Amino acid sequence: MTPLTPPKHIPDSVCPICQKPTAVEFRPFCSRRCADIDLGRWLSEEYRVPSTEDFPPSPNNEREFEE
Ligand SMILES: [Zn+2]
Repeated sequence: MTPLTPPKHIPDSVCPICQKPTAVEFRPFCSRRCADIDLGRWLSEEYRVPSTEDFPPSPNNEREFEE
């Protein structure tokens, strides 16, 4: 029988997401949920990098030269 060990908390550290005490297991967050939230923010910022200039202008339908 292994008793469930409650999550340890780091006294001087708080979760940057919800300001609760940081859990050792999920530091610097208090829980996996907050870690996921932060990860989501991180990824969304990554995707937010504007790169439209890299795309060539959508090619117009090739126009035939007017005679
Ligand atoms: Zn949290």
